[in-house]
Amino acid sequence: MKPKKSLGQNFLNNEKILDLIIEKGNINKDDIILEIGPGTGNLTKKIINKKPHKLIVIEKDNNLSENLYKKFNKNIKIINEDILNCIDKFKFDRPVKVFGNLPYNISTKILASFIKIDNLSKFFSYFIFIFQKEVAERIIANYNTKDYGRLSILSSWKLNTSKIIDISPKEFYPIPKVMSSLIILKPKKKIQYLNKPRNLEYVTNIFFSQRRKMIKKPMKQLFNDYEVIAKQLKINLNLRPQNLTVENYLEICKLYESLN
Ligand code: SAH
Repeated sequence: MKPKKSLGQNFLNNEKILDLIIEKGNINKDDIILEIGPGTGNLTKKIINKKPHKLIVIEKDNNLSENLYKKFNKNIKIINEDILNCIDKFKFDRPVKVFGNLPYNISTKILASFIKIDNLSKFFSYFIFIFQKEVAERIIANYNTKDYGRLSILSSWKLNTSKIIDISPKEFYPIPKVMSSLIILKPKKKIQYLNKPRNLEYVTNIFFSQRRKMIKKPMKQLFNDYEVIAKQLKINLNLRPQNLTVENYLEICKLYESLN
């Protein structure tokens, strides 16, 4: 079967890395596991060997789903659907562990959809995902660094993130053009409550669409009394967007919500 570019199909072949994913996943017999885009089932097979309570896989490709069904049907639940249409369906009585070598064209969409789920830590214990390296760097970036931006802020609002390892293109078939990274993302127990997560995306978009400019301009765009508000939040209007911490952005967002 010819891998489909449109579905971001780059299958991970390296046994050592597959084993590392399983090791970091720490799968127990009571666990409910979700795997996104199992593809040919390289990782799936290893998850099954750990005998979790339940394994659910979501694969959009019809042919791959059929093959998975033939290979593993007795052991797993296969959902032949688009993950973006069923992200809300995986709320169980215990936090789920999620795995995925994500299709790169929609990887940030998948992550953002999970982040927007209410009570994330109640429903998910962690996510072990492979992203394009450049995207992984943006997810885990701290303020005052060049990769820090909208995705770092959205992720850090709900998740503790860390990189496990970089993965060379040659470990995949077909070989992608870019480096990849395996990262682990754990939902935080305590988070700042926002009325609408979309507001955080809106606010950070206003700041980072002018990332080299001083924040005076976006602040002015968001608030009439921007100078008073800057004082109140103790932020200097001459800073650049990347100099504000995630807490700064959450405070700005909360204030924006309270005034709109
Ligand atoms: N986990 C496998 C395959 C990774 S490639 C491995 O590491 O070898 C990405 C996989 O995601 C492919 O199997 C692709 O068909 C699937 N996929 C792509 N878009 C998807 C979507 N929207 N929902 C679910 N699966 C998707």
